[in-house]
Amino acid sequence: MEQQINITFPDGAVREYIKGTTAVEVAKSISEGLAKKVIAADVNGKTWDATRPIEDDVNLKLLTWDDKGGKNTFWHSSAHLMAEAIESTFPGVKFWVGPPVDNGFYYDVDLGDRSIAEDDLRLLEIKMAELSKQNSPYIRRPISKKEAINYFEKKGDEYKLDLLQGLTDGEITFYAQGNFTDLCLGPHIPHTGFIKAIKLTNIAGAYWKGDERNKQLTRIYGITFPSQKQLDEYLELLEEAKKRDHRKLGKELGIFTMDDEVGPGLPLWMPNGTIIIEQLEKLAKETETDGGYKRVVTPHIAKESLYLTSGHLPYYQDSMYPPMEIEGVKYYLKAMNCPHHHKIFAAEQRSYKDMPLRLAEYGTCYRYEQSGELFGLMRVRCLHMNDAHIYCTREQFAEEFRAVNEMYIKYFKIFGIDKYIMRLSLHDPEKLGKKYVNDPELWLETEAMVRKVMTEANIPFVEVPDEGAFYGPKIDVQIYSTIGREFTLATNQVDFAQGRSFKLEFTNQNNEAETPLIIHRAPLGTHERFIGFLLEHYAGKFPAWLAPVQAKILPISDKFADYAKTVLEKLKKADIRAGIDDRNEKIGKKIRDTELMRVPYMLVIGEKEVNANKVAVRRQGKGDEGAKDVDEFVAGLREEIRDRR
Ligand SMILES: [Zn+2]
Ligand SMILES: [Zn+2]
Repeated sequence: MEQQINITFPDGAVREYIKGTTAVEVAKSISEGLAKKVIAADVNGKTWDATRPIEDDVNLKLLTWDDKGGKNTFWHSSAHLMAEAIESTFPGVKFWVGPPVDNGFYYDVDLGDRSIAEDDLRLLEIKMAELSKQNSPYIRRPISKKEAINYFEKKGDEYKLDLLQGLTDGEITFYAQGNFTDLCLGPHIPHTGFIKAIKLTNIAGAYWKGDERNKQLTRIYGITFPSQKQLDEYLELLEEAKKRDHRKLGKELGIFTMDDEVGPGLPLWMPNGTIIIEQLEKLAKETETDGGYKRVVTPHIAKESLYLTSGHLPYYQDSMYPPMEIEGVKYYLKAMNCPHHHKIFAAEQRSYKDMPLRLAEYGTCYRYEQSGELFGLMRVRCLHMNDAHIYCTREQFAEEFRAVNEMYIKYFKIFGIDKYIMRLSLHDPEKLGKKYVNDPELWLETEAMVRKVMTEANIPFVEVPDEGAFYGPKIDVQIYSTIGREFTLATNQVDFAQGRSFKLEFTNQNNEAETPLIIHRAPLGTHERFIGFLLEHYAGKFPAWLAPVQAKILPISDKFADYAKTVLEKLKKADIRAGIDDRNEKIGKKIRDTELMRVPYMLVIGEKEVNANKVAVRRQGKGDEGAKDVDEFVAGLREEIRDRR
């Protein structure tokens, strides 16, 4: 009788299969349609070939293009396909490594005396397409070190021989497809036919092993998809994202600047950017005041001991600026606002009647990011955080957490963020006391409360085990811009550890000292990341309430300068941010320039408008809206701004 193995699926179901069965065969036993989509498998937490025989009882998850592991396998397999095309085009080429990256893959190659240009990429794409159509299987073969060395000595590839030096017998495998064999741990997709759309995107130089004393290799980047449609969509998105690049728009619209002498990762907010900051803070203050928050202000530095108490030191030390020494004491720039807020809680006697206490601050934090990691407003070293900490009793927790979530949703509506994903990160009971605060009961209780709040509010969320914070479960929020790019916003965290480490207490109804639960939340994230996101999201066309200039008056000639000034006065009196374009330019140019600055309203003034006591209104992106009475226009715009439409 054939031997049986038990396979456990992600939903907990266990089914029996014949020993040596493959993930593709398992998929087939479920449905033919699924089998066609399975490109890899997660076997006991490791990514495997979907065609590799499974010999023991395992946990199995079938991976498709939609899984990260599936995509990585797809792209890494595409790197092998590209290598095959390169080898057939440039015989004698030598290969270093070809990993998947965030969007696609690359391979580092030594072309010898030859060089490669854009045109070659197009030829390689054609060759790859030809090879993919052969549906060549990726064949895994365990091999002895001796045999492997033999193979690459014969081939004369010193790079693979170098890789082999670090490997020992029993862990070496070859993967072959078509006419190409590579030293590789895998895994790979079943066959090349899955790769239906190919784009080689870039050629760059890369020093071998990243060391500039070594030879420079040629790095060829590419991206592939299971369908042409997906590639077309990707290229379109790339084009659109380029136009909406927040660094480009930030410069054009006078939002922010960077200066080498100020330092990398330290944005300077220009007047237009500062207006946006002030509007966001106004929104936050209004919302938080409504929500019963109290505002506080705290210093930018604190003594070392504060961060030892909070646990940021030494665990978070790498992300903090080095300390400065004052009067023999070490001070750190603050990387988080929490410890300061905890001290405000501790500054007074608290009773259950003071709870919940909600402390809010647009806090300035400093984080040390590696210079290679810095990126526009997205990764910076100085950030302004829409921070608050809520100190509450266990009984109040669910209600407080619900209100925080509602605030997130309220903001999403205002900014037209239609797509967002909330991830509830949980603890792992086996790692209590190590990765997680050892309070199993409180973990289960708060996780259950968070789950209940999310479910009752009908907020779509996914649960992720073993990704909680050290001190409690958290909600990670991912938002998507109008062009569908993902941004990580901020976390909404439950904390039952810091209250204890800071010895925070309130007197409960039984006159006993009790430690509060703490919620950390920052629904608008940081000004830096959020405005970076908004620049892309709106393509710089901010709604009137956020726009640095809300209306621009464009007189057709300076004959109408006086009338333009009276209109400007009316706008200013109504608190509308407005200006006059009084340059000696043709009206067509004035309109074009104002449109480039993405000003929501243009008020054109000529003879007709002056005589009728009106303005000709042009709406950004929509065009002519006809002549309007000035007061009527002002009233309409005021309403639009008030409602943050
Ligand atoms: Zn490989
Ligand atoms: Zn905090």
